[in-house]
Amino acid sequence: LVSRENHRERSVVRVGGVPIGPGTMTLIAGPCAVETPEQTLAAARMAQAAGATLLRGGAFKPRTSPYAFQGLGEAGLRILADVRAETGMPVVTEVVDAADVELVASYADMLQIGTRNAQNFALLQAAGESGKPVMLKRGMNGTIEEWLMAAEYVAQRGNLDIVLCERGIRTFEKATRNTLDISAVPVAQRLGHLPVIVDPSHSGGSRDLVLPLTRAAIAIGADGVIIDVHPHPETALCDGPQALVDGDLVELARVVRDLPPMV
Ligand code: PEP
Repeated sequence: LVSRENHRERSVVRVGGVPIGPGTMTLIAGPCAVETPEQTLAAARMAQAAGATLLRGGAFKPRTSPYAFQGLGEAGLRILADVRAETGMPVVTEVVDAADVELVASYADMLQIGTRNAQNFALLQAAGESGKPVMLKRGMNGTIEEWLMAAEYVAQRGNLDIVLCERGIRTFEKATRNTLDISAVPVAQRLGHLPVIVDPSHSGGSRDLVLPLTRAAIAIGADGVIIDVHPHPETALCDGPQALVDGDLVELARVVRDLPPMV
């Protein structure tokens, strides 16, 4: 269903009216985790002022440590819905458990499935039945074929509104949090018809890498990027070191505008 063999034209996925696909360079931005209404609104305003058209923000956070901030759950989803009402930005948010899909889908414009759940087949199937577009991150240890097969689990349940997101894979290299597999973008676009975006924040894990990795994503023809922003990264409850602050995001947005995407 997601293969290019049976679907020659690459697809455009619309999220609350915002297109992601060939010819777009959709900028998705927002906080890694929803912490407070003020923090989320401030991050959304930064994102929107810089030209982002979709708001990201995690209410259910898949953390390595069970002692780390796990997200606000439904209270976080309510904050995202309030910020959407305030800014008009459609919301992309992660769901980590099949049992929560209905709840998250009742607030979100797009469901995100994270790297740790990239082969959680029950979750993929539930997302496929949610009626909402799905952003499917590549498993940090997953091959491109496994990633496309994960998308197939969503598609099989009648949902072809899927966007693939390359977010870096685990390699021997320790200087970056993950290794951005930039070649995965054209390969996934050649093998499948789904839009492919890049997450330079979670791949590099460091603020100074976000702009160069975004340049790479644009140059190779990604259909969008998803970026962490925070009004006060030094106090962030999740992934502060990779969050952009105001001026950085404006510069990144200028790069996104000025480097025309490959078609
Ligand atoms: C995220 O985007 O909030 C996230 C946890 O990403 P990943 O699944 O790529 O680690």
